[in-house]
Amino acid sequence: MVSKHSSFFSTPEGSVFIGAGPCSAESPEQLEQTAAALASTGMVKLMRAGIWKPRTRPGSFEGYGSEALQWLANAGHKHGLATATEVANAEHVEEALKAGIDVLWLGARTTVNPFYVQEIAEALSGVDIPVMVKNPMHPELGLWIGALERLEHVGIKELAAVHRGFFSTSAGALRNDPKWELAVSLRERLPDLPLFCDPSHISGKRSWVAEVAQTALDLRYDGLLIEVHPSPETALSDSAQQWPLADFDRFIRSLEVRTDESTMDALPIELQDIRSEIDRLDREIVELLGRRFSLLAPIASIKKEEGLALFQIERWLEILKTRKDWGRDVQLSGEVLQEIFEAIHKHGLLRQVENWRTGNERAIRSKD
Ligand code: PEP
Ligand code: MN
Repeated sequence: MVSKHSSFFSTPEGSVFIGAGPCSAESPEQLEQTAAALASTGMVKLMRAGIWKPRTRPGSFEGYGSEALQWLANAGHKHGLATATEVANAEHVEEALKAGIDVLWLGARTTVNPFYVQEIAEALSGVDIPVMVKNPMHPELGLWIGALERLEHVGIKELAAVHRGFFSTSAGALRNDPKWELAVSLRERLPDLPLFCDPSHISGKRSWVAEVAQTALDLRYDGLLIEVHPSPETALSDSAQQWPLADFDRFIRSLEVRTDESTMDALPIELQDIRSEIDRLDREIVELLGRRFSLLAPIASIKKEEGLALFQIERWLEILKTRKDWGRDVQLSGEVLQEIFEAIHKHGLLRQVENWRTGNERAIRSKD
């Protein structure tokens, strides 16, 4: 895979990649107006527009199809913007390439299905074109990575991942649950892959888009892919989440790009001091955990001798309750402590199972 520092998706230090455009291509005029405004910001490299729209229910606007490809290519290229659209099968790939579209993307409903991804990958075999892969609808990193790999295997070198959130029955105020930790773990696994955020599809509503976009930049994403429309209220798809074109320039200038500390000559002294203190405390935490875990072998031994089950629900509920009570005095939320103690408890139980299985608990106990 081409590194993010030398691909179509790379940007100069201190800036991020910005792609924007309407959810759907609706007319040549809409795309012309959009391209002119995006180009005038001087910050947008890529104009997006959906040509074939995957809609949940039949009967909704499904895109203008192939004829709109030329509208997109003409408008984008006239204003010096690269163009991108979503492809969901081999025929879309062929049509988009014929029309001179510069970048393709796989949507969330495609990434989820390895058959579709493979079909698209084969249609792209031997083609040199940048491709963006949105996360699958449900939170599974394997499918996202699998789609990227299928494209890499047919020779696509310029790849980017687009985080658009995950379907959830409890996404709260947002349309799709961001699950930021999943995107961050994708970046840890594939550090050279550009990672973009699509704040429009995560938000579902204009009122959330700026905050989600800024969160992505605070997490040092490499770029944003944003839906914009000359008059969002009349948009034929995703009307509630598209950003008004007339305000787009102000909007992207209001976002703050965070610095990558590896490019700084020296870190501020206060930051270094705080980090040393954190290192010292983490060391103490690790030592304390070691002491806590060393008590598990004798406990496992006693439970075995007494014929007790390893997991005692009352004890576990008491642990949770007391730790959450203690947390209140030091401004730690119950939610944070619940997650931490669930992990400690789970690994504690696994350690005791291991002790029972190997008979290790007696050996340790007899040493005491
Ligand atoms: C889109 O980008 O308009 C789209 C349909 O996105 P997603 O695949 O993320 O739902
Ligand atoms: Mn959309």
